[in-house]
Amino acid sequence: MNEKIKLDKGDITRLDCDCIVNAANKSLLGGGGVDGAIHRAAGPKLLEECRTLGGCDTGEAKITGGYNLKAKYVIHTVGPVYSGKPSDAEMLSNCYRNSLDLARDNDIHSIAFPAISTGVYGYPLDKAVPIAADTIIKWLEDNKDYEMNVILSCFDAVTYNMYQQYIEN
Ligand code: ADP
Repeated sequence: MNEKIKLDKGDITRLDCDCIVNAANKSLLGGGGVDGAIHRAAGPKLLEECRTLGGCDTGEAKITGGYNLKAKYVIHTVGPVYSGKPSDAEMLSNCYRNSLDLARDNDIHSIAFPAISTGVYGYPLDKAVPIAADTIIKWLEDNKDYEMNVILSCFDAVTYNMYQQYIEN
């Protein structure tokens, strides 16, 4: 496995790293799943800052503070709602790449991603995992002079096992 990538099982909000990524919706005003968990753990000031951002397009990323989280920053990115079209993969890949670019531009050196779009947005896990892993691996290769440690946060065993199998092979 790429030594800059680690898997973690459990709640992303408890992770002690520079930045955690939120699988947000376009409004950036909170929602269910990981988004709700991040807002609950960060506290109301996160929503206050999010209100100033004017939303976010699919595949794009925006940064805020982390407030009550251990992480100093949250990067909010909007995954595609799965439709089965080829553009889904492109949008999902953009989420990972744009989040990593934004992290680098903010001098962030450790970042944790949830499995974007694989919950309510319905992206099949077996299709999303290779896109996430390949995009991150390519980004790390393209930015090999920049120190970046990536945590793949897996909320359940199915996600964890899928990533582990893909990354170790
Ligand atoms: P989306 O709308 O992008 O599908 P969801 O939040 O519904 O976002 O799901 C994305 C992924 O995040 C799913 O794999 C879900 O199991 C996972 N997830 C939900 N809560 C958490 C959490 N607290 N920490 C990490 N991952 C989480």
